Amino acid sequence: SQRVIIIGAGIVGTNLADELASRGWTDITVVEQGPLNMPGGSTSHAPGLVFQTNTSKTMTHLARYTVEKLLSIEKDGQKCFNQVGGLEVATTPARLEELKRKLGYASAWGIEARLVSAEECFKMYPHLNHDMVLGGLHIPSDGLALAARATQLLIERTKQAGVRYLEHTPVTGIERAGSRVTGVTTPNGSIPADIVVSCAGFWGVELGAMVGVQIPLLPLAHQYAKTTAVPALAGRDINSQINGMNATLPILRHQDQDLYYREHGEQYGIGYYGHRPMPVIASSLGLTPKHVDEHNMPSRLEFTKEDFDPAWKETQSLLPILQETEIADGFNGVFSFTPDGGPILGQPSHLDGFYVAEAVWVTHSAGVARALAQILTTGHSDIDVSECELSRFEEVQLSPEYVSETSQQNFVEIYDILHPLQPRESPRKLRVSPFHARQQELGAFFLETGGWERPWWYEANKDLVKALPASWRPVERDAWSAQFHSPISAAEAWKTRNAVAMFDMTSFHRFEVSGPGAVQLLQRLTTGNMTAKPGSVTYTLLLNNHGGIRGDIFVSRLEDDVFQIGANSATELAYLQKEARLQGKHGSQWAQVRDITGSTCCIGLWGPRAREVISAISADDFSNKALPYFGVKKTILAGIPVTIIRKSYVGELGWEIQSSAEYGQRLWDIIWQAGKLHGLIAGGRSAFNSLRIEKGYRTYGVDMTTEHNPFEAGVAYAIDSNKSDDFVGKAAIQRLSTQTPTRRLRPLTINDGRSVVLGKEPVFYNGKAVGYVTSAAFGYTIGQPVAYAWLPGSVNDGESVEIEYFGKRIPATVSAEALYDPGMSRLIQ
Ligand code: FAD
Repeated sequence: SQRVIIIGAGIVGTNLADELASRGWTDITVVEQGPLNMPGGSTSHAPGLVFQTNTSKTMTHLARYTVEKLLSIEKDGQKCFNQVGGLEVATTPARLEELKRKLGYASAWGIEARLVSAEECFKMYPHLNHDMVLGGLHIPSDGLALAARATQLLIERTKQAGVRYLEHTPVTGIERAGSRVTGVTTPNGSIPADIVVSCAGFWGVELGAMVGVQIPLLPLAHQYAKTTAVPALAGRDINSQINGMNATLPILRHQDQDLYYREHGEQYGIGYYGHRPMPVIASSLGLTPKHVDEHNMPSRLEFTKEDFDPAWKETQSLLPILQETEIADGFNGVFSFTPDGGPILGQPSHLDGFYVAEAVWVTHSAGVARALAQILTTGHSDIDVSECELSRFEEVQLSPEYVSETSQQNFVEIYDILHPLQPRESPRKLRVSPFHARQQELGAFFLETGGWERPWWYEANKDLVKALPASWRPVERDAWSAQFHSPISAAEAWKTRNAVAMFDMTSFHRFEVSGPGAVQLLQRLTTGNMTAKPGSVTYTLLLNNHGGIRGDIFVSRLEDDVFQIGANSATELAYLQKEARLQGKHGSQWAQVRDITGSTCCIGLWGPRAREVISAISADDFSNKALPYFGVKKTILAGIPVTIIRKSYVGELGWEIQSSAEYGQRLWDIIWQAGKLHGLIAGGRSAFNSLRIEKGYRTYGVDMTTEHNPFEAGVAYAIDSNKSDDFVGKAAIQRLSTQTPTRRLRPLTINDGRSVVLGKEPVFYNGKAVGYVTSAAFGYTIGQPVAYAWLPGSVNDGESVEIEYFGKRIPATVSAEALYDPGMSRLIQ
């Protein structure tokens, strides 16, 4: 068994020790700076409300496992999870609508939930003010985690399994030899290890710094207060050990005012997110004292009553029974926030043996611990955790300035109603393509992803909407789906299908893989055959050992030893870089993987008239014979060195034209000028998404993840069945290829021709929720809204299903693929 050191004995570290021990690992040491009985981190005072439902399927499933696990832990008949249920109340019509959307998430992710009327809310929670509540969402399996107690029970259980605990032992350094960690330093000496996992909660930044890893989390203080005894509840058992097990009311959320509530025996607990963000630097909190108690721990800062005043006033309105009480005790408790609100899990690509599991709520703690234990023991987690990966953050997103601003914004917005397309307001213009100035001149409406400004549509195309043929006219949308949308995208789609459009593809990731070991690296990691001659492009998959999809990439072979990769995420870059490093280390020929996204730019020039445009600026032969579909070449276009790849995400004839970034603006201008005669427009991402979905092209991370195999996801065509070399996932693929998929990603068309959904809605078949929508858009070419959805494998083409959108069921039909140009005649001409 590997020697493992876990730093931190909070709810995450102890769960990880337990998950590893239960998988048979025997050499585990947990090092904790505080006393074990109350280490003094966030867990030591966490009120432990577990609301499982989240917009993210991953987070919901991590929470669901946490509930299952905590329910299973008990000692002397005393449990550490009180499944009182969760009630979220609406006091505004907008929140009432939002709860319908939330019910949709619950159904989509398999959590039982029910919208309840105001009357039912009062029955469930008699203390609520009848004049305020409009209705609620009830989730029976939510409840109260007794996190501190669970931690103690886990310590006891893992000690019995042989896990060693060192208390009062701060880790002051992480030791390494080359690119591998070798142990930790403590005041009592070094402890050697093969694997070091930092579960240090909001101290994560300091721990990461010990080994040169930037951890993008920000500790923030959050106010929590307890009232004096509520007279009506007087006499309840308030034994602190089991504090919480005697609660009977559901945990309560009043998100319209950033508030949540739980019972503490005769008292009430009130949590508040409505105050100003209060950032904390963990290292400024000093050493954890020898003696920690409820009032004396590093994660507990002094209560700033004036920040709590609005919460107290609002609370007394919502729960009039509390007018008979006062604030007995309050504190500003510290825990971690991140730029996107997700936890931080995984390892840096440049260092072996170092892992993190930080910025994790109690709600997701056991789920995260299990995922990491599975990664350590089997190489992959059952629940897809790509959205939690440390490597999801781009370099600029790791800067302290970015982390601070965005994490504080997340604190402010934690209970807000957020549209799925809503961009952050700041920081903006962190990353702009060389075409940005031109796009602004064309009135681009920008949304932001990964720091990039991406045009969604161009106001310059407004007049085209009036010129649209009747069958292309955009339909009226409901208020929610009309946000961040413009009918202009219909015109941009029309132009792409009928003339030609240019799309800014710069923000898509581009990596260069080079060196004598490049072929070997890509052969080993992908499902395709990378020995094809230079000049060819291959669409291929990155799999894990279980055949789950961990990425899909386009590989262009530019020279014998130089490949260019088109990918979707920074996580794919981290994976390739790590594997390239290990390949060199293990004595094979070296390969280098370099991110060239920012130093290059890319225009997608697509549409039936694309060839006329490119021929106007180049004497090269761009015929189908000279540069066939999935061909690539380097050339000069009107004096600019470019790489031209014959591929298209929108399903039309054309190329991706890439150049070094400094030529970008000139490249744009040259194509723009040449295109004028041929009706060229600039197209935004809104039209692009519609065109891609109609064509059936999947987006990794949205349509498919590590939870899906290529046969289910409909991308088995990207596996080269003649490939003789071994590759990651090959054995699994051979096994899976003989099985009938139990679920499949299917296109749906919406019967009424107008109801647009946005993604993540549940899909019902014969009245039962059986799947969920991934991508969705209005399909302008086919004149109907389209959605991709995961459905049971037994559901056939032509069958009827229903998509639930804000509580309404929208009839849809399962369709054959692709909805647009299945014969590829538009692409190959
Ligand atoms: P911690 O419990 O902080 O554990 C980290 C441990 O690492 C600490 O014990 C620390 O001493 C140790 N450590 C750090 N540095 C070192 C070092 N150098 N050497 C050795 N040991 C080290 N979550 C919910 O899900 N629901 C809620 O209702 C909820 N409410 C909250 C209310 C408040 C007021 C606060 C502050 C947090 C709340 N949270 C809630 C969040 C939750 O408490 C935390 O996210 C969670 O407890 C983090 O657990 P952890 O194990 O990662 O971190």
